[in-house]
Amino acid sequence: MKVSVLGSGTSHGIPMVACSCPVCRSENPFDKRMRASIHIAGEEGESIVIDTGPEFRLQAVRAGIERLDAVLLTHAHADHLHGLDDVRPLCRSLPLPVYGNDDTLEEVRSRFSYVFRETQPGGGKPRLDLRTAGAVIEIGSLRITPIPVKHGELDILAWKIEESGRPSFVYMTDTSAIPESSKSLAGKTGAFIIGALRKRPHETHFTFAEAMEAALELAARRVWLTHICHEHSHDEITAFCGDFIRERNLGGVSIAPAYDGLEIRV
Ligand SMILES: [Zn+2]
Ligand SMILES: [Zn+2]
Ligand SMILES: [Zn+2]
Repeated sequence: MKVSVLGSGTSHGIPMVACSCPVCRSENPFDKRMRASIHIAGEEGESIVIDTGPEFRLQAVRAGIERLDAVLLTHAHADHLHGLDDVRPLCRSLPLPVYGNDDTLEEVRSRFSYVFRETQPGGGKPRLDLRTAGAVIEIGSLRITPIPVKHGELDILAWKIEESGRPSFVYMTDTSAIPESSKSLAGKTGAFIIGALRKRPHETHFTFAEAMEAALELAARRVWLTHICHEHSHDEITAFCGDFIRERNLGGVSIAPAYDGLEIRV
């Protein structure tokens, strides 16, 4: 499968509105971060996005997404959900399955209430088929497992995607703790994208160091950090990851900040 990072920024995006810090003013394209989201293209043409943030339209156009088999939602925070209406051109012929936990789907029904009630003809609405994510979901040859994790006190989902004969891929953003049962669900992770906000602690997000520790605990070999805030430049985070690998003597493990447009072959 091919994983494309559509956005790698925290809830504000970078540059942030009304901020003139060095990272928000940076001219380095790696320091421009839209809200966090990824696209997964399977070997048989399967096409899935995880989260539809406010820039979904721009991200889908930039990535050339022409069809979608499903949307997987991590949770209902605005930075992960409010571009959902823009899937309209991708669900003209068939309703689009949207998977999330029950809390997330309830929020979708409330924030997008117009989608689920009668409105005048001609008003374009996305055709959404909300489905509670419980057991494994199969889409084409992709096996998709929802993994419950904690985002502060919130129960949200990480997602594991497997394709036969390939290492697994896990996307786990906005996480601050991984329950023991979920660690075994995640299993031995091949490629791993994990949310890591900044160096300073935060109540509801892993720091860089916490995210890297979590990745090592899941035996991930290839790790990228996402959902990054404006306190650190891409170059600074790259150096921080390099120091972590050297200090721990982690031969064979790669850890780096994700960036918008990053493509990962799994
Ligand atoms: Zn977020
Ligand atoms: Zn800033
Ligand atoms: Zn969140």
